[in-house]
Amino acid sequence: MSQLKLSNVEVGFGRQTIVDGVSFYLGEGEIGCLLGPSGCGKTTLLRAIAGFEPVTSGRIELNEQLVSSPGQHIPPEKRGIGMVFQDFALFPHLTVFENVAFGIRNQSTEEQRQRVNLLLSHVGLAGYGPRYPHQLSGGQQQRIALARALAPKPRLLLMDEPFSSLDAELRETLAAQVRNLLKEEGITALLVTHDQQEAFAMADRAGVMYHGRLLQWDTPYGLYHRPAHHLVADFIGVGVLLHGFVTDDLQVDTALGLLRGDEVVGGTEGESVDVLIRPDDIVIDDTAERRAKIVARGFRGAHFLYTAELADGSHLLCMAPSHHQYDIGEDVGLRLNLDHLVLFPSGFCDT
Ligand code: ATP
Repeated sequence: MSQLKLSNVEVGFGRQTIVDGVSFYLGEGEIGCLLGPSGCGKTTLLRAIAGFEPVTSGRIELNEQLVSSPGQHIPPEKRGIGMVFQDFALFPHLTVFENVAFGIRNQSTEEQRQRVNLLLSHVGLAGYGPRYPHQLSGGQQQRIALARALAPKPRLLLMDEPFSSLDAELRETLAAQVRNLLKEEGITALLVTHDQQEAFAMADRAGVMYHGRLLQWDTPYGLYHRPAHHLVADFIGVGVLLHGFVTDDLQVDTALGLLRGDEVVGGTEGESVDVLIRPDDIVIDDTAERRAKIVARGFRGAHFLYTAELADGSHLLCMAPSHHQYDIGEDVGLRLNLDHLVLFPSGFCDT
């Protein structure tokens, strides 16, 4: 087990800065996740942690040992880091057993047999040892790739979009299985994905990257409910921003009236702000006084996601069980169910 600590890490290609001052800490046995849009620098950061890219400034420490800084670079093979990548390339000419045993082939035959069999049973593929990769499904191959990476008991496991080539259902099941397996083995791991559900299912800590910067590093719950930046809120789930002013007693005056939460995150008295309103903050309630008109409707299985237009023309998103349908143009009542208010300075344009 290891801890991973990044302090102000910068990685560049030529004169371009790709990873820009990233700091975070991952404790022993924790699973971390880097989220963010395509091209924001997630893979580059993972490669820097693995030792494949040098850092131009800052420090990467693994178990309190400095592994990367401008003056120090421990090569990848000396870091004791395991890796699983998107294309998970198993060796096609080796059996499943031989693939998993690859990183521990210096151990005795008996040790190899025990470790491989244990891992195969942990990934739910006991008895698959004699097969070849082409005789496995994509999900099974992915689990073998994971077992192979875990066999040498790495200090840290890095996973870059490991489930992206699999279908949604399998992705979700595998994410849960892999989390259990990592916890059983007590492995510290860092996963890169652009899939928020996957991150939520797997991570103890997660962060959202944008243009090389890490905007927030928090629990998945914290990212969703206390986003530190409007781009984090944008990336993590749908919602709208409603303009308002913070009044004396930390209530916010908006087109929906005076909003008040038990807790107010961000915003100071007198400030012009945007309030984050998520669909789960609103209930359609025909007895409610606040009126709105349904202008769009999207089917989400158990729920419909409605867009409701307020009298001043602003829009809100709200969710309601799909056993009842509201029609486009229908007048509805909206009840707010906000327990805390998340505020961002309005008119932001900085990222
Ligand atoms: P995705 O989710 O699409 O995989 P990402 O967040 O992992 O994206 P990176 O692969 O880290 O993003 O790439 C970040 C930026 O760095 C991109 O603009 C990419 O073109 C650039 N980049 C990556 N590798 C190199 C390289 N070897 N030389 C020059 N630029 C590079």
